[in-house]
Amino acid sequence: MKKTFADRIGRIEVSATLAVGAEAAKLRAQGINLVDFGAGEPHFNTPRHIKDAAIAAIEGNFTRYTVVAGIPDVRKAIVERHAADFGSDYTIDETVFTTGGKLALFNAIQVLVDHGDEVILPVPYWVSFKDIIQYAGGTVVYLETEEAESFRITADAIEQAITPKTKAIILNSPSNPAGSVMTAEDLERIVRLAHEKGIYLILDECYVYLNYAGKAVSGGSFTWAKEHLVILGSLSKTYSMTGWRAGYALASKAVTANLSKLQSQSTSNTASMVQKAAIAALASSQECVCEFRAEFILLRDYILEALKTIPGVTCTKPEGAFYVYPNMGAYIDAAGKGGRPKNTLELAARLLHEAHVVTVPGEAFGTDAHVRLSYPVTRENIDEGVRRMREFFAKLG
Ligand code: GLU
Repeated sequence: MKKTFADRIGRIEVSATLAVGAEAAKLRAQGINLVDFGAGEPHFNTPRHIKDAAIAAIEGNFTRYTVVAGIPDVRKAIVERHAADFGSDYTIDETVFTTGGKLALFNAIQVLVDHGDEVILPVPYWVSFKDIIQYAGGTVVYLETEEAESFRITADAIEQAITPKTKAIILNSPSNPAGSVMTAEDLERIVRLAHEKGIYLILDECYVYLNYAGKAVSGGSFTWAKEHLVILGSLSKTYSMTGWRAGYALASKAVTANLSKLQSQSTSNTASMVQKAAIAALASSQECVCEFRAEFILLRDYILEALKTIPGVTCTKPEGAFYVYPNMGAYIDAAGKGGRPKNTLELAARLLHEAHVVTVPGEAFGTDAHVRLSYPVTRENIDEGVRRMREFFAKLG
């Protein structure tokens, strides 16, 4: 009998970050009041000048197909912004504007990874990396990091994980979910290592402007390694534009041509009015980026202090992005002793249904004692969410 579904669709799972949002929406529809630390997105509105550019595009009937990779002006805005901020030297033929950063990642993996190729992925990892690699037929090589070292990845660890089958390395710094930031020295060493060995380094830099540890660094500044670098960027977090689906890849001409070829057979161009909005975001004042960043730092410190009020819960201090990744292992018991959750999947489900707090279970990111809290919410919501969790854990004892 013929199979119904292709093998490749069986190799992936529904994105856990999006699944919790769907589950939360069901409870909300029943009138339940939730504190939502689920899907990661800024709570700010998209800045006025960006919205105005999209409205003007629609009113001006800029509503038709464009070239697949994006109009020259949006690609110019991408490469000029990146060059100004990080000293990179990409041309407009070395970037593709994509329907969200996730599509840039998906296409990059499809273009580079074949069946049996190994891709090194530090743990904890953002949910979709693993599935996207597996969808392409690649083998994920998980690289454990130390919680005591704030889950930071080092060049030494990467070097040890490389085998003759390594095709690519994925790095995400600042990282989702732990907010860890690589040192500039480690990043440079890894870029050099990958370049010398002919391994592609896929750098998901969607939180690059949310680096609280020091000056933001992009792998793209190592211009001598361009041949082996694929830089993935997103406007979602930087400009509070998650729903617009606006991302990009920066890579060599050869890689870019293939990204564009693949995109020509799926989404074609990103929505034309979104391209105009992106130009407004990238090419005008970056004041909103500084404002958002400053508020995220305050919220990070606020939620870290609040979490200290839950006995037995510890949390590393994130140095970037907008998540905290507290260790709640004290309240998990694999055998379910004392009515405790057996794993973080059960913990997150019970926090949702019993405490009405939305979190993402650590299992989705490859660790077994944590949940992820996305903290761009109001301070009142942080207080209330932490209070609910504290009460839930107090009952567990
Ligand atoms: N990147 C965000 C998150 O991790 C948005 C949801 C997603 O695409 O995974 O929550």
